[in-house]
Amino acid sequence: MIELTVKTGKRNELLDVTSQVQEAVSKAGLKEGLCIVYCPHTTAGVAINENADPSVKEDVLRKLTELVPKDDNYSHMEGNSDGHIKAILVGNSKTIFVKSGKLVLGTWEGIFFCEFDGPRSRNLLLKMAEC
Ligand code: ZN
Repeated sequence: MIELTVKTGKRNELLDVTSQVQEAVSKAGLKEGLCIVYCPHTTAGVAINENADPSVKEDVLRKLTELVPKDDNYSHMEGNSDGHIKAILVGNSKTIFVKSGKLVLGTWEGIFFCEFDGPRSRNLLLKMAEC
């Protein structure tokens, strides 16, 4: 297992980690197989989506915050229930094909670390399998 460190700078943020993940795949020497990306946090997640137009990230974060407001009479006293709910909606892992040593992603796709209770130093776990 490989552990990447992700430093987030805002409370809610989508950070493009595609190059970090690709670098880890290259370093591991994986040519054909799968790369599992797992976020071991309860107020963060992983998504694959458009990384060409940065306004997509803004729209996603704005809509998630509309759907899950920061304050909504939550029971959890830590003050980050919105982050927990957003993390569940986004999900905490992705499996990505690797072909000829490269992550197989669509032209406009990138891998995003989704922070919902930052800023923090976070971990992203990778496990690769040749197949
Ligand atoms: Zn909490």
